[in-house]
Amino acid sequence: MHLTIGYLYGDLMNIYGDTGNTIALQRRAQWRGIEIKIKNISVGDKLKKGGVDIFFFGGGQDQTQQTVAKDMQKGKGKLIKAEIERGIPLLSICGGYQLLGDYYRPHKGPKLAGIGLFPVYTQASFERMIGNIVIEVSPHPEVGLPHQLVVGFENHSGKTFLKPEAVPFGHVIKGFGNNGEDKSEGCIYKNAIGCYMHGSLLPKNPQLADWFLQKALEVKYGTKVELKPLDDTPELKAQRTAITKFG
Ligand code: GLN
Repeated sequence: MHLTIGYLYGDLMNIYGDTGNTIALQRRAQWRGIEIKIKNISVGDKLKKGGVDIFFFGGGQDQTQQTVAKDMQKGKGKLIKAEIERGIPLLSICGGYQLLGDYYRPHKGPKLAGIGLFPVYTQASFERMIGNIVIEVSPHPEVGLPHQLVVGFENHSGKTFLKPEAVPFGHVIKGFGNNGEDKSEGCIYKNAIGCYMHGSLLPKNPQLADWFLQKALEVKYGTKVELKPLDDTPELKAQRTAITKFG
């Protein structure tokens, strides 16, 4: 079996350790004998249906987001949405997440159109939301995501608000989350997750990393896949330390 990770604008949107998420997915797949390629998909690159099995979209500063937002409106955004509709998993973090909503209004410069994948919108604020974050992810049985605590690190000034139809990814136990006001963190739609959790997120949350791999394999090969369990002692130790220290 083999998978391809589409690293959206990996050359431009990859701050606060976000590339570690693609490395974690690649290693956890390889430890199970599954080959996994990481393909950078950036400005001007063509994206074709079925070319990517897992999308990853990291964080980036406002000015980079301007360039990326423009490029996404030239066709890539539409295709990403169509791929999510057929169940392709996606993880987006902070700046990437913001551009997958309806819009991001930064302090300076024009309002950036998002692709409307997540029913959310983001306004820049004068508050910098920085620090360790711990959230409780309620079970999402429709996509086989179990109840779990998830840890990360956030650093954003954008405040993201959920529209009535939006489903939050989780509930903030410690930290700011989407906007530091309503205790929501992130958004989930089918197998796509947006959140503010840098860190990198997946190395410290192995169960979440495996969920992305599982989903990608199921969509690609059309069957339920049981991943061989790995010895996650170090990963879970890091997660538990973060929960105890910051939770
Ligand atoms: N520029 C956005 C903000 O400050 C995103 C930053 C990021 O990706 N960490 O909210």
